[in-house]
Order: sequence, then C-alpha cells, then structure tokens
Amino acid sequence: MIPYFFSSGLKPPLSKKGNLISRRRWQAADPQVRDELGEAARKVVIHHTALWTCTKPSECQAQLTYIQKMHMEDRGFSDIGYNFLIGGDGAVYEGRGWGIIGAHAKTHNLDSVGIAFMGNFNDEFPSPAALSSLQRLLYSGVAQGHLYSNFVLLAHRDLAHTECPGEHLYSSLQRLKSQRAHHMCCVDCVPAVGC
Ligand SMILES: [Zn+2]
Repeated sequence: MIPYFFSSGLKPPLSKKGNLISRRRWQAADPQVRDELGEAARKVVIHHTALWTCTKPSECQAQLTYIQKMHMEDRGFSDIGYNFLIGGDGAVYEGRGWGIIGAHAKTHNLDSVGIAFMGNFNDEFPSPAALSSLQRLLYSGVAQGHLYSNFVLLAHRDLAHTECPGEHLYSSLQRLKSQRAHHMCCVDCVPAVGC
C-alpha cells in the first residue's frame, strides 16, 4: 500500500500529458553530468526560489533559464540544482528529475529529492494549485519507486541555517505533514501519536 496524504481523496498522479513540463519543453541546457541516486530517495526537501512569482509557462521559463544559468555558471553545478520546480499555476517543471542526485541541500543531496516552489514565500502564500501539484508529484514518486513510501518531508530550513522556503510555505508544509501523519495513522492503520 502506498501511504499518501491527500485529504480530499485520490488525485491522479502527474504525467507528461498533464502539468509536468519536461526539460525539453522549457528548453533546458543539457547537464554536464547526471549522477544517479542508485535507490529510492528517503527525504524530500522543499525550497523556494526566492525570486519572482510566475503563474504560466511563458513567465516561468525565464526564471528557469535564469536559475539554471546561475547554478551552472556562478555556482559551478553540473545542472540546475533542484529535481523539480513548481510554478504558481501548479505546473511542475522537470529539473534534474527523478533518480538523479541534486544540488540543493548540502550533506543531504545523496538521499533526497529537492523541490522548489517558484516565488518568495516570505512575502506570498503558496497557491492551492502549487500545493496540490506537490502532493501529486510526491504520490507519483512513490508509485514509480523513486521515493520510499515513508519518505520524510522536510523544509530546507529544517536542515540548514536559512529562511528557505519562506515563512508562509513553511507553515503550509507543516499542515501537509500533519494531514499525512493523520492519513497514515487512520487509513493505513499505522500506529502514530495523536490519532
Ligand atoms: Zn532552499
């Protein structure tokens, strides 16, 4: 059984026909290197880009290109650092994708997936569409064997001295985590505190 944490019932996982936008579609530069994780990831680390909000692919593309260039040219990464990025309209952009080691949370990259919400969530609230896409993306990751079903959902600030992913997104993640704990307890009959 796949524990997931949709409070409002099963939602279809993301597909390339849905709102998952491939690297080719956002015209990503080719990576210099792609190192595989080697097994399913145990952690998911949520970030924000701390840049401007974008709510459609034509707006997000400029930000994706900017981030990839910054990561590769200024920081010396082999590719855009994140595995996925999520726009304000809920579109999910393929970064390094599943199964590839990211560059987003020092000392945690080897067993995690990095997902960035596009925008600055110290100032803004994450959209329901973006949060829903996160849930569907995580569900897909578990269903496809890229994430352990008992993966740990973390914010970047849980692992490092940073404001990332912003106050409002951090609060939303705490709510998602409590929904997930409740779901795993009450639906999958896994004993847990507080159920
Ligand atoms: Zn971060």
